[in-house]
Amino acid sequence: MEFEKIDYNSPASVSSFLESYGFSMQKRFGQNFLVSSVFRHRIADVIEVSPDMRVWEIGPGIGSLTSLLIDKIDDLCVFEIDRGFVKILSSLFPSCRIIEGDFLKTWMGEFNRGMPDFIVGNLPYNVGTVIVLELLKNACIVPSVFMFQKEVARRFVADRGDEFYGALSLVMSFFYERIFCFDVPASAFWPRPRVVSSVVKLVPKEVLPVSSSEIGCFVRFVFELFSYRRKSLRNVLKALPYFKTASEVDSFLDDVGLDGSLRAEVIEPDVFLNMWKLLGA
Ligand code: SAM
Repeated sequence: MEFEKIDYNSPASVSSFLESYGFSMQKRFGQNFLVSSVFRHRIADVIEVSPDMRVWEIGPGIGSLTSLLIDKIDDLCVFEIDRGFVKILSSLFPSCRIIEGDFLKTWMGEFNRGMPDFIVGNLPYNVGTVIVLELLKNACIVPSVFMFQKEVARRFVADRGDEFYGALSLVMSFFYERIFCFDVPASAFWPRPRVVSSVVKLVPKEVLPVSSSEIGCFVRFVFELFSYRRKSLRNVLKALPYFKTASEVDSFLDDVGLDGSLRAEVIEPDVFLNMWKLLGA
């Protein structure tokens, strides 16, 4: 099926396009399209890609960002769950590889063809964090630009002592330089979401703290230590399967040189690495 070109900068034209072809929006897939020329271009500007790069876009929707990337890149692969949108994308961007289905189920097939050089995504609010952690756990660590709900973006870039700091912030800080780019108001989308969004850039660290094969377990370990926010580290460790007795936990804490009454969010990042190394020994 052929589709006419879309004016991505006009909410009225996006909505009449979808209506005229009989597409309805699926709330469960977080479908809010960028319809602001200013913000589409501001986002495209932080996506620093060159034609020879293999680039992935997760959740392209009807192509608001894709349309700004397609002429810059020879090898663009997009992952879209909505079958109707896949038809639109195939018609409007014939040179683009389109993978239909849930990214979490489809991406490995594409990954096995080769590591992307850059990943981009205006991610659905409900699965954004899951997708980024899935990529990390599988050592798919490449420069990326993602848009998240503002509060989620704050968690990605927070440092120890910040209000939004937690396991996600710490884990990301081990593997990436995290750059908060800018907020995107609800008015930049159609339909309007109830939240403000923010764009975050992730640049992989040159030296990774653990080997690729360990990343998944390491990430789980950090999340476990943060899992009971009110408990001291000693009590969290006692509840985890790494130790059989309380005295094993105490001698572990002595070896790390750590006060077990502290909580995870106040502990220096490097201490988590020391704990991980000692556990693996
Ligand atoms: N990138 C477009 C834009 O900026 O206008 C659309 C962004 S919209 C917030 C999120 C898109 O992700 C929707 O097109 C939705 O269908 C798609 N999506 C949601 N869950 C997905 C998943 N698990 N895998 C792939 N695509 C998904």
